[in-house]
Amino acid sequence: MASQLINGLHHVTAIASNPQRNVDFYAGVLGLRLIKKTVNFDAPDVYHLYYGDETGSPGTIMTFFPFGEIQRGRRGTGQLTYTSFAIPSGAMDFWIQRLAKLSISFTGPITRFDEQVLQFEDFDGLGVELVETPDTARKLGFTAWTSGSISPEYAIRGFHTVALHEISGDRTIRLLTEQMEHRLIAQEGDRMRFEAGLGGSGNFVDVLAVPADKRGLQGAGTVHHVAFSSETDATQGEIREVLIDAGFDVTPVLDRNYFHSIYYREPGGILFEIATNPPGFSVDEDVKTLGSALKLPSWYESKREIIEQRLQPIQVNTL
Ligand code: ZN
Repeated sequence: MASQLINGLHHVTAIASNPQRNVDFYAGVLGLRLIKKTVNFDAPDVYHLYYGDETGSPGTIMTFFPFGEIQRGRRGTGQLTYTSFAIPSGAMDFWIQRLAKLSISFTGPITRFDEQVLQFEDFDGLGVELVETPDTARKLGFTAWTSGSISPEYAIRGFHTVALHEISGDRTIRLLTEQMEHRLIAQEGDRMRFEAGLGGSGNFVDVLAVPADKRGLQGAGTVHHVAFSSETDATQGEIREVLIDAGFDVTPVLDRNYFHSIYYREPGGILFEIATNPPGFSVDEDVKTLGSALKLPSWYESKREIIEQRLQPIQVNTL
């Protein structure tokens, strides 16, 4: 059997405005763990905030560049428009009541592929969904983070699906199935569902062909890129060759401190990344204290004082 090069989703990275509002939504409202507080490696006066499960397992990681006072983007084609998180069976009522209590308006729950889906937006207008699924026990070694008034039986269990909105899905689907080891498993209306690796919740990609929709515009409240997981540097190197042979313009391997990354644009315009699972988030911080201190890559340490002065202090307020 050929070795598996792609396991499923690794992380989703989006653009936000105010960093404290971002922490208040993802750590406060959704109850994810702030697992890393670092800076945008290309623009160190902007935070790079990572949220996830207890240890930051691949497939649970949502990350943001909170740029401050920037314009909102627009959801549309050529974008990842909705990031869906998995919640366990029986948790939907809890989340409906929680969002209502926190004055966050939502749509649904609606039924999609026989599961219940609640749709809403973060404080910048980013599309978020919660999907109630029995398929959450599969993730070995995956520890949901519990905080504030969210007890373990309701806590988010990492990603469920990402939705890619395309003018035409054809070439994106060819990339997913021919180079990226995804399989078509279901179709409902204009939505086609693919899965990779072990499959199931956390490994789904939905492709929607919506030619009548407006083109998406990047800004606060839109996704910057989606990363797929590859087990090692060797498997990442193999998939990089596969993509280059198929004509994709793939970057060299970049050191992101917590993983190694390659990037390329899929035919519909969405930026894709393939990230290695190691070294992970405990490379520069103990698991117990993840996210509590500002971590900088070694090449910025000498500028720490200036960088810290430019960043707005943030704190986790559990709800
Ligand atoms: Zn990334």
